[in-house]
Formats: sequence, C-alpha cells, structure tokens
Amino acid sequence: MRTVQSFIKLKEMWPAFALGFLVIVQVICAFIFFPLLLAFGILGVGVLIFLWIFKSSYQLAVANSSLLLERNQNEHIVDSLSEGIVVYDQEFKIVSISAPAEIITGVRKEEIVEKAITPEWATNEHFRLLTQIMFPSLAPVVIKKTTTAYPQIVEIRFSEPRELYLEITTNQVLGDKGELIGFIKVIRDKSREIQLFKTKSEFITVAAHQLRTPLAGIKWALEMLDKKEMGDLNDQQQAMIHETYTVSQRLGKMIDDLLDVAKIEEGKFGYQLEKNDIVTLVQEVLQSHGDQAAQYKVKMLFFKPTEPIPLLLFDKNKISIVVQNLIENAIKYNVENGEIRIRIEKLPDKPYVQISVEDTGIGIPQNDLPRLFQKFFRAGNTLKKETEGSGLGLYISRNIVKRHGGEIWAISTEKRGSTFSFVLPIDEKMVPPTEIMTEDGF
Ligand code: ADP
Repeated sequence: MRTVQSFIKLKEMWPAFALGFLVIVQVICAFIFFPLLLAFGILGVGVLIFLWIFKSSYQLAVANSSLLLERNQNEHIVDSLSEGIVVYDQEFKIVSISAPAEIITGVRKEEIVEKAITPEWATNEHFRLLTQIMFPSLAPVVIKKTTTAYPQIVEIRFSEPRELYLEITTNQVLGDKGELIGFIKVIRDKSREIQLFKTKSEFITVAAHQLRTPLAGIKWALEMLDKKEMGDLNDQQQAMIHETYTVSQRLGKMIDDLLDVAKIEEGKFGYQLEKNDIVTLVQEVLQSHGDQAAQYKVKMLFFKPTEPIPLLLFDKNKISIVVQNLIENAIKYNVENGEIRIRIEKLPDKPYVQISVEDTGIGIPQNDLPRLFQKFFRAGNTLKKETEGSGLGLYISRNIVKRHGGEIWAISTEKRGSTFSFVLPIDEKMVPPTEIMTEDGF
C-alpha cells in the first residue's frame, strides 16, 4: 500500500491534490451559503470529479515511472557494454552518447548532445577523434570491412598521439513505419587485442630467426655429405643423409613460411611495386621447376598468350612466391604421367590479367574447397599422398594477391584435377596504396 507521503512525491498527483483542495473549499462554502440538499449534491459531484482526476493522475504517474525505469535500465545496459555507442539524427545532431564512448573519444555528453557535428570540428583537437568516428574518411587509415550499405563496418587506425585501432559499425535507426529517423554507431576499441596480436607475431618472428641460423649450418653440413664432398659413403649412409638433407630443406621452408606469415600479418612484408612483365616471370618459375616436375613424372605445358599482355604493377619476388606455390602444388598433388597447363590471358570483360594453373591431379574434396586458403589448412585427401606440408602456401599466396588488388580462387573435382587461378588488375589505381596489418590475413 502506498502511503500519503509517497503519493505527495509523485509530481503527476499534484493537480489532483490541488483539485481536492478546491473541492473541499467549494463544499465548505456550499454548506455555509447553499441549502443542505444542494450542498450535498455539490459534495457528491466534487468527490466524483476528484476521484476521477485522482485515478487518471495515478495511472499517468505509474506509466511515467515505468518509462523512467526502462530508460534508466537501457542507459545502464548501454553504459555497461564495452563498446561505445553514439546515436545521432540525419543532420548529424548527437542524440545520445554512452559512457564508454565518452571515454574512447575523450568528449563529455554535455559538450555534444543536441549539437550537429560537421567535418570542420576535426580542426579542434578536443573533438578530432569524435569527428573522425562520425566521418571515418577523415581518419589517417581507413579500412572498409563491408561492401553493403548497412550495417557499415570500417576500421580506423591512428598512430598519433597513441596507437589506436577502432572498429566502427554504423547502422540505420528506423521508425515504426520503417522511415529513417537516425543512425547508431557502435565503437569497438581493438587496440589491446591488436597489441596482443603484435606480441604474438613478434614472438614468431624472433623464434623463426633464431631457428634459421643453426638450421643453415645443419643444412650446409648435410649437403656436403650428400654431395660426397667429405668422401664416399656406403649406400645405406648415403640414403640416410639424403633423406635427412631433404627433411632439413623442408624444415627451412616451413620456418621461412612462418616468417612470411608473421611479416604479412604485421603489415611489414615490404612490397616493392614496379611495372613488370608477368609472362616472363611465369616462364622463369616454370623453368626453375623442370627438375621437380621430372622427378614426379609430370609434364608442364605453357600456353603462350594469344594477345599482348600489358605490363602490370606488382612485386616480382612476391608474385613469384604465388606462382611457385601454385606450380609446386600442381606437381606435388598430381598423379604419375599427369599434366599441368599454365595459361595467361587478358580477361575480355574485366580490367584484369588472369593466370591459371590447371592440373590432372588428385583434386580437392568439395567440402574442403571453402577452407583451402585458410592458415595451416590441408585437405583430407592430400595427407596420404604428400605427408609433409605446412598448409601456409595458399594462405600466403592469397594475402600477396589481395595486396595487389587481385583475387585468387580454385575449382576442383576430386580424382580429376584442380585449376587455381588468380587475377591482377591492369589499372594501377586498383592496387591498394599501402600495406596494412591484418589480424588473420585478408
Ligand atoms: P601445403 O601444400 O604445404 O600443404 P598449401 O597452402 O600450398 O600448403 O596448400 C594447402 C592444401 O591445399 C594442401 O595441403 C592440399 O590439401 C590442397 N591443395 C593445394 N593445391 C592443390 C592441388 N593442386 N591439388 C590438390 N590439392 C591441393
């Protein structure tokens, strides 16, 4: 039961109390000045009106208090999220900003609520970060993570005055009839996550470097023995040394791959982009793989392009890694007396040059195709055929191709063969201007 004091505290009840007071005054006057019957009539009507107003005011008070509760509860939920939230209307007028968003942007609610933010606000250092969040194109590094209109996800990065990585998701706020009434931005501070990722990457780089030097010594000694430069060995010894030398080479390749992955993910692979001839590059890689193809009894066929291929902007060494990976895989995962067909062509309807490597090998199970370019992934059917492999070659290749503004993909039929293709843009403007850090590749 509510006490009288608790009713008095409700602002919505005050008109009812004022009316009650008026009714009492009116009834007293009626009893003094009017005949008794009329006074009782006025008393009855007064009480009825009072009760009706009292009930309506009470209902209003209850509704208001649950609205207030809901609003406070929502604010509390929004403030306790780790992401910052900013809501604004179509004129970029801030409707609300949550406590975490205040911390991230360094701006207080009172300074911006009800104010329309414009790009010019970025000239004021205090509001710069908030303005860059509202207009991500003003940030020094912007990475678009979605191609759809909404929700729109971008990552913005700053190195000054401190390292800051923010992921901003923008979505529309719609009214009951589906009309646009504003926007909401969810800001996720990924700086700590990225810092941990960098530490992990640095650890891999240091460990791989430390392993490389002693391994080079081991490889050198084994090579000397294998090539009989230290004298003759019996057949058994020769076979064992040869096998150990091969394993040490594989280990070296794996360490190099790990180093490449760490550098790629840190955005420090160091691309040297120049206008180069892709046809010459592919032919050079093919020539250097003649012995390996012969060893696996696989024939390599190069189909000369039928029309001139323009010079393209790419890093020769890095694109060599891609072509090598595709050709080595086509050799390793082929069958005896199998074939590899390599083609280069200018796409007729798109501004790209396509390089494809087709093999007649073991193919890839359909279920495995979507995961082929993931780090450390190896398809189930290859483990028996080629036990050794890091599962990093295609991951590295994909990152290199993406860095050049291209795409890489595979089509395959199990037990029939696979075709790996990649495209590089003809127009230099389609090549991304800078190398960026990627937590898990593109
Ligand atoms: P690795 O060859 O060292 O395992 P890659 O990243 O180059 O690593 O390849 C990943 C996996 O993709 C391979 O283990 C294999 O399962 C599959 N694969 C790649 N190329 C081919 C191919 N030409 N034919 C069949 N499977 C392939």
